[in-house]
Amino acid sequence: MDIPRIFTITESAHRIHNPITPDKLATLGAALRLEPGTRVLDLGSGSGEMLSTWARDHGIIGTGVDLSQLFTEHARLRAEELGVADRVTFIHGDAAGYVSDEKADVAACVGATWIGGGVAGTIELLARSLRAGGIILIGEPYWRQLPPTEEVAKGCLATSIFDFLMLPELLSSFGHLDYDVVEMVLADQDGWDRYEAAKWLTMRRWLEANPDDELANEVRAQLTSEPERYAAYTREYLGWGVFALMARP
Ligand code: SAH
Repeated sequence: MDIPRIFTITESAHRIHNPITPDKLATLGAALRLEPGTRVLDLGSGSGEMLSTWARDHGIIGTGVDLSQLFTEHARLRAEELGVADRVTFIHGDAAGYVSDEKADVAACVGATWIGGGVAGTIELLARSLRAGGIILIGEPYWRQLPPTEEVAKGCLATSIFDFLMLPELLSSFGHLDYDVVEMVLADQDGWDRYEAAKWLTMRRWLEANPDDELANEVRAQLTSEPERYAAYTREYLGWGVFALMARP
């Protein structure tokens, strides 16, 4: 049970598997006014940077669930490194349908909303683990500029223009689900560079170390084409943000 191996190759050196930067993750933690002892559940927790740094900085208690064995191992190591291994738990497993025994004050899915079959389904899933009055965090892309053609949308690795909304429409879509948007932290192009460009050096080094691997050709092809594709499409057209939501009474 794991994610496709290509991701554990290209993102093996990432602490954050999204265009949000350490600074902005800290900004988000401060913006949420987290109190010590706040329980945070994170579905698709990746290498655990959000939970571990918030445990260090705000004394939260965290549980993360992630399908990648490698990222989960990295998350546990990072928690030890930051001295918070007693406050955060990382579970290796499928988060689809995951509901916590104990209700969380904050329930998050940051950049993995396919886990609940899209934004609406993921909000529903997270709500099942959330205490009344708690906060849901959704990390999701939106169009910075609407792609003029379907070809441009595909250049962003979307299946269609309809995969994502413009920011105002994304915000109003939360309202249609009966949630108030109570905070947001948006990524910028420098953050996208940290997420995407960091893959290139990782790929190059992996290729040097694994020339005969069955995925070597695929990784070589990606390293060759990705910088230009990314600059032409994702960097220009795709925005990304984390949105904090509270159910309307
Ligand atoms: N929230 C993290 C990781 C985002 S990347 C961060 O911001 O850094 C998406 C993550 O979802 C990856 O770590 C991947 O392993 C995980 N994932 C994909 N499918 C999943 C599933 N069904 N259940 C749990 N995690 C999943």
